[in-house]
Parts: sequence; C-alpha cells; structure tokens
Amino acid sequence: MGLESFGKVKIITIERFKQQSNGRIKHGFCTRLGGVSQGPFRSLNFDAEVGDSLENVEQNKVILGQAMKINPARIFLANQVHGDQVLVLDEYPDENPSNYYYLDYDAIITQKKGIAIGVLTADCLPIMLYDPVREVIGIVHAGWRGTCLNIVGNVVSKLRNLFGVQLEDLLVGLGPSIGPCCYSVDIKVVRSIKNSTNRWKEFIKPLKANRYSMDLVALNIHQLLEAGIPKENILRINACTACNSKVFFSHRASKGKTGRQLSFIQLVEEGA
Ligand SMILES: [Zn+2]
Repeated sequence: MGLESFGKVKIITIERFKQQSNGRIKHGFCTRLGGVSQGPFRSLNFDAEVGDSLENVEQNKVILGQAMKINPARIFLANQVHGDQVLVLDEYPDENPSNYYYLDYDAIITQKKGIAIGVLTADCLPIMLYDPVREVIGIVHAGWRGTCLNIVGNVVSKLRNLFGVQLEDLLVGLGPSIGPCCYSVDIKVVRSIKNSTNRWKEFIKPLKANRYSMDLVALNIHQLLEAGIPKENILRINACTACNSKVFFSHRASKGKTGRQLSFIQLVEEGA
C-alpha cells in the first residue's frame, strides 16, 4: 500500500491509472488523514450524516480540492443504499451537486469532464473504473449486499452497452476495504452469497457457530473476471480498513461510530 502525500492529505493512487491516463484523470482512495473533523470522525471525513458537522465536511472538501486541484463544489456523490443501481451522469449537475444527494445509487459512470464522482466507505469496498480509450470513468460502492447483487458486473455491462467500452481497455482499481482477516458475517450473508454464485465456498470460511469470514475483494474480482475483464487489468490495493483503523475509517473497528473516507475519480477538463 503506497500512501502519497498532498500536503497533510494522504491518498492512495493506482500506478497504472496514472501511467495510462497521462494526466487526463485525477483519482484517489482517500485515507482518514489530513482533515479537520474531530473525535470519532478524525479527520478527513466526508459524510455529514454520521454525526459530524456539515461545516467540517465542507471544510474537508475544500482541503481535498486544494490538495488535488479539483473543484470542491464538483465532488459528486449519490445517496448510497447498498443496491445495484448505476447512475449514468450524462449532464452536468448544477453548481451545487449536493442537490443531487437524494439520488439512490451505489455506482456512477460518466464521460463528463471536470466532475469528481465519488463514493463514501468505512469497510465497504470502493472500486474505480477507467477506460483511457473511450475516456469514460466509473466509481462503485460495494458492500456485501451490493456485491451479492453483482453491482460491479452491472457497471461493466453499462460501460459496454452505453459507451462501447472494450473489455481489454478497461482498468479496474479495488481500494481499501475490510479484509477476510476482520470480516466476520452470519448465515444470512452466507445464504445471500450462495444465491449469487455456485463458487461461494471460495469466498467464505467457517470461523465458529454461525460466524464466517468473508472475502469481499476476492468475490468482486471473481465477478470482474466473469464479466470478462482481463486479470492484468484488475488492480488491487491490499489494505484492510479494520486492521489499519488509524489510517482508514472502519465501521467494524470503531463499533459503528466513525466517519467515511472518499474515493474519487475525475476526467480532467481540456486546458485545465
Ligand atoms: Zn483485517
């Protein structure tokens, strides 16, 4: 796991995304480091719905904007609901994208430049997609529910059908999330995984009575391979949020009271 510093803000980037974009995108999996929020939200929290103040969250957007040279008013988030719906952002949101916050989606795809599409997580898996040929980007929030609905597979089909993306061109980055070392789930989750794939045993290991360890990242990688993405295009950040709760917000490690880190990707405007 390589942390890159932009002032006090520390972000994880993907080398292949940087190489193949040649400056045409900005992207990053934020950590919790470098913001102004306090207490359980310390410090780069992007979610005002978890108990932090809106003022702090807005200030954190400004800090990230300055660090990454992106417009904080153009960080675009949907309202995540652990579903499998994909928002196709085909027009510019108005100058106050938070007006769109009520939209219930767990993935966003766009070809529009100058908008940083993002997802918020604290153990769930953030996934970003980039096709340098068609210049199209996507971002996904995948918890166990969205994963069992194959949200990442949905995103890949939409990118193919709507934008003509070729599978061999599509790069996929999987960010920090809770690892199988810390992700203990109950039989309800296991049943849901069994319903979604007959290879479920590869992603579930029994721990004790009614507790199982789940490998969220491996299941998403399996779905990407099933969708036809070449193995070498699947780029994984190996970091468990719960094992590293000083660096990442972790819902499990903090027993529920914590902030949310932002993962974002943006196509850079021409001349910017
Ligand atoms: Zn762990």
